[in-house]
Amino acid sequence: MSRIVSIQPRLFKVPLAEVLVDAMHGTHTHFELITVTVALENGVSGTGYTYTGGRGGHAIMAMITHDLVPYLTGRDGSDVEALYEAMQWHMHYVGRGGVLSFAVSAIDIALWDIRGKTQQRPLWQMVGGHSRYCAAYSGGIDLDYSLERLVQSVEGYLHQGMTAVKIKVGKPSLEEDLRRVEAVRRCIGDSATLMVDANYALTEAEAIDAANGFRAYNILWFEEPIIADHYAAYRRISDATGVPLAGGENMHIIYEFEHAFEAGGLSYVQPDASNCGGITGWLQVANRAVSYGIPVCSHGMQELHVSLVAGFSPGDPAASMPHLAGWLEVHSFPIDTYTHRPLVITNKDALEPDDRATVHASLAESTSLGVAPDSVGTGVEFNWASLEPHEVAL
Ligand SMILES: [Mg+2]
Repeated sequence: MSRIVSIQPRLFKVPLAEVLVDAMHGTHTHFELITVTVALENGVSGTGYTYTGGRGGHAIMAMITHDLVPYLTGRDGSDVEALYEAMQWHMHYVGRGGVLSFAVSAIDIALWDIRGKTQQRPLWQMVGGHSRYCAAYSGGIDLDYSLERLVQSVEGYLHQGMTAVKIKVGKPSLEEDLRRVEAVRRCIGDSATLMVDANYALTEAEAIDAANGFRAYNILWFEEPIIADHYAAYRRISDATGVPLAGGENMHIIYEFEHAFEAGGLSYVQPDASNCGGITGWLQVANRAVSYGIPVCSHGMQELHVSLVAGFSPGDPAASMPHLAGWLEVHSFPIDTYTHRPLVITNKDALEPDDRATVHASLAESTSLGVAPDSVGTGVEFNWASLEPHEVAL
């Protein structure tokens, strides 16, 4: 046991290289990064974080500073799962599934960083040790790009060694979306993997029409066609079209995921450890997903999720479920470039035989793979000097 002696949150507003647009969140000029550094009395410290699309960071900071710091200080920092539960119930009435989920996530990730440093284990090992490698795809926030710019940006991903790409859909007309999907499929060829993401811009009827249209372009999944809370409608869209659906970035508590799994409309789930309760919350979702036979993917912050998607294996070996290959999103918010180890991408051909054997058999030889860091803790060490110019004074 070692008590928490300090918790230090910081807020950064980091500019993007260009303005990014999707169907429902408007324009993104910045992302916000909220870091939390937790120190124990035994001298071990760890850092966790969450992020936003540019709004809400002050509220997350306020909940951490005014409510969670005084509540956690003096408690046993090694009891990560108990602290997770305690934080959730302490602020449940006001924060359930909202700002609280982001605040808990940042602190939980810091506690896992401490756990890894204490146990001298990297994150991919701590969550099961299945593999250091997982399938990775580039996810563009590109709805506002001209057709020409969209194709250029996808060519850029291929040039970086990616073999799977996701583009935004949700233009005012389906015809326009179909033109964009068709152009991108032509650009990447038949063997590359393609996904589309509507950021819940459509109605159920529009989603069915769109899914039927996208089917001709062999998409791996259609992400968030409609708002995440309409669980039964996901099932109806899936049943009506046979097109695999994905979602999860807008589900923040385990109960929301369970409703989605029960309803049965999701073929891929994409929990984001920055907003579903950190690593503890992500693992809860992952273990439930496996019991429904759903592959566990991720959303955002690729530098951390690479260890979760690659390393995860179910907590209950008696479940004897086959391991399912999840996909790591390489998101357009480049948090990893503000760390000392930006995401590393490789493919099977580049791996030693022992490592190749851990890569999921369903993945093609050429599939772009994310490589989890092998350093102890979460493996995410911020380059503070690069972030400090963007710190928000509070
Ligand atoms: Mg998305």
